[in-house]
Amino acid sequence: MDEWITDELLAAVDARCNAASRGPWRALVEGRDFWGGDTFIQIANGTEQDMYVERTTDPPGGPRHAAPEDLDFIAGARQDIPLLLAEVRRLRTELSARRTDQTAGATPEHELGADPACARCGRSVVRNRSNYTAFEHMHWACFHYEFEHAIGDVTDPDVACADPACPARAFDPRPVQTWAADRELP
Ligand SMILES: [Zn+2]
Ligand SMILES: [Zn+2]
Repeated sequence: MDEWITDELLAAVDARCNAASRGPWRALVEGRDFWGGDTFIQIANGTEQDMYVERTTDPPGGPRHAAPEDLDFIAGARQDIPLLLAEVRRLRTELSARRTDQTAGATPEHELGADPACARCGRSVVRNRSNYTAFEHMHWACFHYEFEHAIGDVTDPDVACADPACPARAFDPRPVQTWAADRELP
């Protein structure tokens, strides 16, 4: 398959996200976001040390702050890349599920038996039994929690991930924004 974003690249990007300082990152530009103070990237709502990004000047006169647009880009990457990663993974899962459905790989209905058991929780798979094979012999919810559910390195099932269908959205009081940006809450 011609995937220019290989699984290895995805894993490397994921590892870089997880190794970086905690999010969120936010560019705070003096004169734009506030008056008085300095220009820097705020890390984890200020609970970790600020990050300064500077460029050398020509002729040399000492460093100056990177452009606000560059600071926004760097700070935004901390939030944007995990969202994009989650979206790529979701789309790939969906694609491979469709391929499985369309080929002989799908388990014929009559071979599933009345109540195939979920490989993760052991309970009967009823609603999505036709996707039993595509979902790795699991409930959709179990598949989601097993393979998709994560915000950075946090996989707590009570913390909503960026998937708009994440079950934890029902009871997480402060869910992260979904990757479906057009569905922002008013
Ligand atoms: Zn299950
Ligand atoms: Zn989730």
